[in-house]
Amino acid sequence: MSLIRPLVAGNWKMNGLRAALTEVEALTAAHPAPACDVLLCPPATLIGAMVAAAAGGPVSVGGQDCHAAQSGAHTGDTSAEMIADAGGTAVIVGHSERRADHGEDDATVKAKAEAALRANLVAVVCVGETEAERDAGRTLDVVLGQLAGSMPQGATAANTVIAYEPVWAIGTGRVPEIADITEVHDALRKAVSDRLGDGASMRLLYGGSVKPSNAAEIFAVENVNGGLVGGASLKAADFGGIIAAA
Ligand code: PGA
Repeated sequence: MSLIRPLVAGNWKMNGLRAALTEVEALTAAHPAPACDVLLCPPATLIGAMVAAAAGGPVSVGGQDCHAAQSGAHTGDTSAEMIADAGGTAVIVGHSERRADHGEDDATVKAKAEAALRANLVAVVCVGETEAERDAGRTLDVVLGQLAGSMPQGATAANTVIAYEPVWAIGTGRVPEIADITEVHDALRKAVSDRLGDGASMRLLYGGSVKPSNAAEIFAVENVNGGLVGGASLKAADFGGIIAAA
């Protein structure tokens, strides 16, 4: 890992009732001063309550998705401004489950990322290839294409984070070879550096079946600056183990 302060982000997906906030309290108690930034993205219903549960500790809170518009006739959607108003500081955009389940393309993801910046949230922009794309040797093409199409206008190392999440590694327990993670992250670093003045310090997260047992090895890759964690972010013990590895 380089000198960039890592970020370990958790994505609770559609999991978590108020009772689960005790996990945040346990995490804060166990890791009052971690060596990385820590972000948890609960369902929208829990953002405000999690902000309260995390107050005074190192855990920041974010959303899992936002609408591109600030407000309006969009039943069921949440704007970036609403996430900020609830105390959130970041939002995940373009997660592969959003891309697949809600048909989000790069232009949509880009608009959402720009909404995040408009609301002064950090945009965590997700990219990643499917198994078929990897098998066809198209991983770098796909990932770099998604990056080019999804990066918000005005992106800086401070307001944007890229998460590389191979779709086939999410929730499957399968993780790419370290050499494959290295190859993709090196290509992402080059792409963001070519594109942005401060791309050399933008945080590039790896996501997909990160666990306490594999986090240290993954986080040791030079251009991996932390992780985006799904299943293992739900329990303080597991997520704490990943935070300790960063
Ligand atoms: P996982 O999910 O850690 O459960 O594989 C990662 C993600 O989807 O962000």
